[in-house]
Amino acid sequence: MQSTTWRKIQFYSTQDLDNLPQLKKLASGDRLAMKAVAQILPFRVNNYVIEDLINWENLPEDPIFQLTFPQREMLSPEHLDKVIWHLKNNSPSKVLREVVQTIRSQLNPHPSGQVEYNVPSLDGKPIPGIQHKYPETVLVFPTAGQTCHSYCTFCFRWPQFLGKDSFKFATHESGYFQDYLRQHKEVTDVLITGGDPMVMKASHLALYIEPLLGKEFEHIQTLRIGTKSMAYWPYRYITDRDSEDVLRLFNKVVLAGKHLAIMAHFNHWKELSTSVAQEAIRRILSTGAQIRTQGPLLNRINDSSEVWIKMWQEQVRLGCIPYYMFVERDTGAKDYFEVPLVIAWEIFQEAIKNTSGLVRTVRGPVMSALAGKVIVDGITEIYGEKVFVLSFIQGRDPDWCKRPFFAKYDSEATWLNKLKPAFEQKRFFYEDRLDEILMSSRFEY
Ligand SMILES: *Cc1c(COP(=O)(O)O)cnc(C)c1O
Ligand code: SF4
Repeated sequence: MQSTTWRKIQFYSTQDLDNLPQLKKLASGDRLAMKAVAQILPFRVNNYVIEDLINWENLPEDPIFQLTFPQREMLSPEHLDKVIWHLKNNSPSKVLREVVQTIRSQLNPHPSGQVEYNVPSLDGKPIPGIQHKYPETVLVFPTAGQTCHSYCTFCFRWPQFLGKDSFKFATHESGYFQDYLRQHKEVTDVLITGGDPMVMKASHLALYIEPLLGKEFEHIQTLRIGTKSMAYWPYRYITDRDSEDVLRLFNKVVLAGKHLAIMAHFNHWKELSTSVAQEAIRRILSTGAQIRTQGPLLNRINDSSEVWIKMWQEQVRLGCIPYYMFVERDTGAKDYFEVPLVIAWEIFQEAIKNTSGLVRTVRGPVMSALAGKVIVDGITEIYGEKVFVLSFIQGRDPDWCKRPFFAKYDSEATWLNKLKPAFEQKRFFYEDRLDEILMSSRFEY
C-alpha cells in the first residue's frame, strides 16, 4: 500500500470568503453576493476540496466549485438584494438574523414531510433523531454527526447545520433508538446518517454501532452508514488519528456476521480521481464492508450523461456498487439545481445504455417523495397519449411497490407533485390510501 502523508483538515467558512487567495480574481460584487448567499445557506469547505478537487482555472463553471461555494443565483433576486442591502449597510446582527430566518423559512426547510410524518414513537412519546418511514429500515441521526467535512450547496439536510434547534433533527442518546429497535423486529436495516456520521470520532461512532452487534439485535442484518467522506475527506480512512480504529470498527461489524454497507455520496467523477480517494475506497473494502454509491442529478454539476458514465464506470472499477440516482429535492436552492424529469430520464437512459450490467444495478431517476421513492421508468406513448411510466421502489404502503402507474407527459415538471395522472384519472392510484396513512401517523407538536 502506498504511504500517504498526514494532512490536517482546515475548514473555511463565510468569514474566509474575503481572504481566500483563490477567490481574489472574482469581481468584488461576486464576492459580496457569495457572502450574502452564505448568510442563508450553510457554507463550509476544507483544504482538500480547495487544493485538490476544484480547478480554479475554470470558474465559475467548475463542478466542485458549484458543489461547495455559494453562487449568487442560488437565491431569488429579491432575497439576494435584501441580504446585500443589510450587509452593505452594516445592519445590527439582530436585524440581519431576523431577515435571514424569514428567508430560510421560505425555502421549504423540511421537504417531503420529514418532520411531521416519519418520527416514530416509543410508549406514546416521539423519539427525536430517528426516522422510520419504510418498515424494514430505520434512520438514525447521531447528534455529533450533524455536520460534514464540507457542505454541498444543494443539500436538502441544510437546516441540520444551522445550529437553530427548531430546524434540527438529531438524537443524543443511542439508548432510545436501541429501545425502539428492540421492540421492532421487522427492522432489518439501520441507516446511520446526518450530516455525515463519519465526522464523528471512531469511539463515538462505536457507541451507536457496537450495541447492535449483540444477540438481542439479531433481526438487524445490515448496518448502513451514509457518508460523503470519501469525496470530501478521504484522509478519514488513511491518516486521521483514529483512521485505523474506523477500519477496525467496520471489520468488527463484518466479523459479527452483519452486512456493512457504506452508502457513499458522490456527485462527480472528479471526486474519485485523486489517489487518496481511491486508497480510501480500497481500505474500506478491505474491511469486508461494501460501498454503494448514490447522489442527485444536479444542473451545473452533473447534468450530462458523460459525467454519469465516467463516474459509474470508475466506481465499478474501484469495486463500488452504483445504487441510486436521485432527483434533486424541492428545498433550499432548488431552482438553481433542478432538472426537468424528462431530461433526468434522458440522461439516465443515455448513461445506462452505454455501460455494462455492473453499472445497471443503479436505479433512477428516483424522487424521494412524501408517498415514497418513485422512479421514472420511462417515457412512452399509450394509445396516442404521451405519458411518464412511474413506479414505487419504496412506498408508505409497501404494496404500492412495482405497480406501474402513469402521469401526463409534462416537459417542465421537476417533481412528483407537478405531475397529473394520465388517461383522465382524477388521482394517482395511491393517493386515497396515502391520505389515510398520513392522517393516522401525523405527530402534532
Ligand atoms: C431511501 C430511504 C430508505 C432506504 O430505502 P432502500 O430502498 O432500502 O434503499 C429508508 N428510509 C428512508 C426515509 C429513505 O428515504
Ligand atoms: S455531505 Fe450530505 S449531508 Fe453533508 S452537505 Fe453534502 S449532501 Fe448534505
